[in-house]
Amino acid sequence: MSDCLFCRIVGKEIQAKIVYEDDHTLAFDDINPQAPVHVLVIPKRHLSSVQEMSAHDQSLLAHVFLASTKVATQKGLDAAGYRLVTNTGRDGGQTVFHMHVHILGGRHMSWPPG
Ligand code: AMP
Ligand code: ZN
Repeated sequence: MSDCLFCRIVGKEIQAKIVYEDDHTLAFDDINPQAPVHVLVIPKRHLSSVQEMSAHDQSLLAHVFLASTKVATQKGLDAAGYRLVTNTGRDGGQTVFHMHVHILGGRHMSWPPG
């Protein structure tokens, strides 16, 4: 059994509200939503952060981003817009060390983030 929370969600050992799945990615509602729509999109393969990704992971990285736009469209965010966020490392505010993209939408996002 994996120590990684998101790998356990991929393995269906921990339940999540899954909103999208394909061969390489999984998307599910964030347990502590920061916006009316807050979905996490992850590669099924464990990669601790985007910083750990290399040229070998190029197509997977593109796949995660394209899955994010599909989910955003599915959630009706495409016209009004949304924000994609990938917190990376300690200063980036990353708390779960399995690479993920946050999709935040359904309200106006301020800038700069805190
Ligand atoms: P980050 O801080 O960028 O690493 O984001 C981790 C995100 O995972 C946070 O927004 C958490 O609310 C979310 N999270 C933690 N545990 C779960 C879970 N079991 N199911 C869904 N989302 C989770
Ligand atoms: Zn993992």
